[in-house]
Formats: sequence, structure tokens, C-alpha cells
Amino acid sequence: MLKIKNYINGEFLEPNSDSYLDNFNPSTGEVYSKCPDSDALDVVLAVTSSKKAFVKWSKTGAQERADWLHKIADKLEEKFDEFALAETTDVGKPLWLSKKMDITRAIENFRFFASKILHKEERSTTMDDGSLNYELRQPVGVAALISPWNLPLYLLTWKIAPALATGNTAVCKPSEVTPVTAFMLAKVMDEVGLPKGVCNFVFGSGKETGSALVNHPGVDLVSFTGGTETGAVIATDVASQFKKTSLELGGKNANIIFKDADLDKAIETTIKSSFLNQGEICLCGSRIFIQEEIFEEFKESFVKKVKELKVGDPTAEGTFCGPLVSKGHLDKVMSCIELAKKDQGVVLTGGKSPEDLPQDLSKGYFLEPTIIDELSDCSELQQQEVFGPVVTIRSFKYPKEAVKWANTTPYGLSASIWTKDISRAHKVAAQLDVGTVWVNTWLKRDLRMPFGGVKASGLGREGGEDSLKFFTESKTVCISL
Ligand code: NAP
Repeated sequence: MLKIKNYINGEFLEPNSDSYLDNFNPSTGEVYSKCPDSDALDVVLAVTSSKKAFVKWSKTGAQERADWLHKIADKLEEKFDEFALAETTDVGKPLWLSKKMDITRAIENFRFFASKILHKEERSTTMDDGSLNYELRQPVGVAALISPWNLPLYLLTWKIAPALATGNTAVCKPSEVTPVTAFMLAKVMDEVGLPKGVCNFVFGSGKETGSALVNHPGVDLVSFTGGTETGAVIATDVASQFKKTSLELGGKNANIIFKDADLDKAIETTIKSSFLNQGEICLCGSRIFIQEEIFEEFKESFVKKVKELKVGDPTAEGTFCGPLVSKGHLDKVMSCIELAKKDQGVVLTGGKSPEDLPQDLSKGYFLEPTIIDELSDCSELQQQEVFGPVVTIRSFKYPKEAVKWANTTPYGLSASIWTKDISRAHKVAAQLDVGTVWVNTWLKRDLRMPFGGVKASGLGREGGEDSLKFFTESKTVCISL
């Protein structure tokens, strides 16, 4: 059985407590690896190591830091298939998706920030009396990087790459639910010989390990991606210590389909934006609003196509949905469906485990893609994030109605609009209270653009220039000449 270890100061260490958490294969329900249950002492070791490494790493030239990131990316490319299979086993996502999205984007994260740091620009101004001001952007210090279970390597590297590129050192706390590819990444860093202490990994539960990390006085910056409730706890923890913090939180995103949309394309993409990664993507469009003229046509075709999606073994060809990540999460998603039924929601398809699973997958956490109709916008399912393969559909008459419903949740992460009318697209995009709007597409990523949410979906922006800003501190130097 795979036994994961912490990676601290260039060494693979058992946790101080010597206790481990079970890590389950969601396809079979079996424990297949052990994850350290680290405590505050492990965190102290990791932060101390990062602090020490910061002295040299922060003064290492940008080109050299970029070279290290490329070395890591090269190794990830070399081990691409190994990483993809590990992500699929740990999370339950289809293997083709691990390859196409998770591991590919993890590599891109390293390559992008390796290049970006070489093109860093700083401002300067001159004053009437000839004085010169210039801005220095310097690394912040030790970064605590905390990531969730849905896109484990992809989201962790989205933080590690800019943190190291800008000269910070890091302590990573991956989700205890999916720790395997982070451990493999630690091994890659060790193999390429990244200087000791530049990037440490401490595994364990959020409540103990994560909290000890966030609260450690030696941590200067916190980059967190996860649920809104956890985000609120972290925001409270860091507030009195004035740590630089970025919070990428949950979403309850609207997908608005106007009557003039290219319906075939809208349906094809809506299947993905609803159920890709079992709907366990913060950007999934879980509330679908369709203009009334095309509602019935959309509904019939959407339901028919979703019924045909293959649910099962994530390593098998043609599988669109694997299992949900854990038993606890499956139970939570099922309880949301029950709640919707109580609120008069009509389940058009799904809502149960597939019946034709082979014996070896019979204990896996599978759920059919689920579509629910006839829920009012004040029902709990329309308001709260499910983070599973469950969407609601609803018809609207006027654009302003769709915008109002889209904005009627505590969240504000993203939205999609489907229309051929470019003027309408602009107007509606401007009215949506979210951090990202996609028009006639979904999940397209340009690393140069800011990413983040408003309202309960988070604080701050990362991506491109925004990541460089977040992971550096600005200093103004004024010289009287
Ligand atoms: P979560 O329960 O909030 O956990 C996220 C991470 O925080 C995990 O590593 C967790 O550790 C850790 N953690 C928990 N409590 C902590 C504490 N008090 N102090 C420090 N760390 C703590 O979220 P999740 O269930 O893993 O992920 C699903 C959520 O993430 C969804 O809400 C989804 O929308 C959101 N998400 C947002 C984005 C975005 O970019 N906005 C992207 C992906 C996912 P353990 O897991 O070990 O407890």
C-alpha cells in the first residue's frame, strides 16, 4: 500500500504523530494509500525550513528560478501517464480528462510562470523637481498554499509556480482526500534537485494541519482554494495577523441560453459545463436558464443526451463520469437531491447510482448525472453549491429576469451566456456579479487573465500579472536628484 510522507527540507519524513489517514479509491471504496496525519510540529519544521531557504531563493536570479520551473515541467512531461493515472485513481475522474486537463494544465502552469517572470515590469515616475520614483516588487516570504480535492495537481501548481517564480518559498497543504499527485510532485522536485526547503509538503487534515499552517506566525502569505465555509474560517484566522491572502472559493454558476443561441453548440458545451469531472468543478454551470421559446426543445435534447453519458470505470474508454470523490461527498450530494424533491423539484434523469455497474465497482461512489426541473429560485438547491453532477433547468422570458436570477445567490464566481447577439452578450456580461463570464464557450483558460470570484466566491485575483502582484510586495523608492 502506498504510504505518503511529508517532504520537509529536502527529506521524506514520517509525521510527528506517526499516525496516518486512510485514502480511498472512489471507484472501489477501498483504502489504497495512507496519508500522514500531520500536526503542528510537522508544520513548524516545514515553515522553519521554508524561512531558511527563503534567504537564498529570494535572491536567486529570475532566469535561474525559471530554469528550475522548466526542469520540474520537463519531469512532469516525462511522467505524464503515471501522473494522469494517479489523479484518476485518487479523484475518480476519467483518465482522458486527467490527461487533457489536469496534468496538461499543471505543466502549463510551470511553463507559463517560468516565462512570465522573465518579463516582469516595474513602474517608475519622474517629478517636476526631477525626483525619481520607482517601484520594487519583492517576494513576500513563506507562502502557505492550500488546495482542494477536485483538481489536485492542477490547482496546487497554479499556486506553486507563481509563488516560486517570484522568489517566495512555500509550504503546501494538499487536500487529505486526494494527496497522491502532490506527493509525486514532491518526488519530482527532489529528483530534479530543487534546493532544500524551497517547496515543502505537509499532508494532513484541514482542521489540524491546515489550520496550524495558516496560523503559524512564520507564514507571510496564504493562497487558499476551497469551500466558502473554510474560506471564512481562514479569513478570520489571518485577519489579526495581516497576512496577505487570496481566497478562491465556491460557486453556483448560471448558464444562460438565449433563444438565438447556436443550440447544438450550447447543448454540447452545457453537457460539459454541467457534468465534466462529475460536476466537481467550481466553475460548473449548475443553474441553467433557457429562454422560453427554446425551452422544450433544449430540455428534450439535453435530457436525451445526458441519459446516454457513460458512468463507470474512469479508466475505461468512453466514460464521461467516474465516481464522486468520497462516500461523504456522495451522501451530501444525494441529500441535496432529496431536498430538491421536497421543494417540488422534478428529477428528469439521474438521482441514483447506475444499475449496471460491474461487481468490482459496486462499492464505488457513483451517481448518474442528474437534471432537476421546476425549482423556484429561492429553493435551497438553487442557492447553495452542490459540487456534484446535479443541475437545475428553468425557463425565462426576458433577459433581465435571467440576470436577476443569475445574481440571486450568495456566490459570484462565473457565468456563461449563449447568444449570437454580440451587443446582448456585452450588456448581460456587464450586469452579472461574477469574476468570469464566458460567451458561447466554457472553461476556456488564458493564464494571462485575472481569475477569482466576488461575494461568497472569494477575495482577490490570481493569474498572469495578478499572480505576480499577489506573490510580491510593492515598495516605492523615491530619490531626490
Ligand atoms: P475545503 O473543505 O474547503 O478544503 C480545501 C482545503 O482546505 C483542503 O486542503 C482542506 O484540507 C483545507 N482546510 C480545511 N479546513 C481548513 C482550515 N481550517 N484551515 C486551513 N485549511 C483547511 O474544500 P474542498 O471540499 O476540498 O473543495 C471543494 C470546494 O472548493 C468547493 O466549494 C469548490 O467550489 C471550491 N473550489 C474553488 C475553486 C476556485 O477556484 N474558486 C476551485 C476549486 C474548488 P482537508 O481536505 O484535508 O480537510
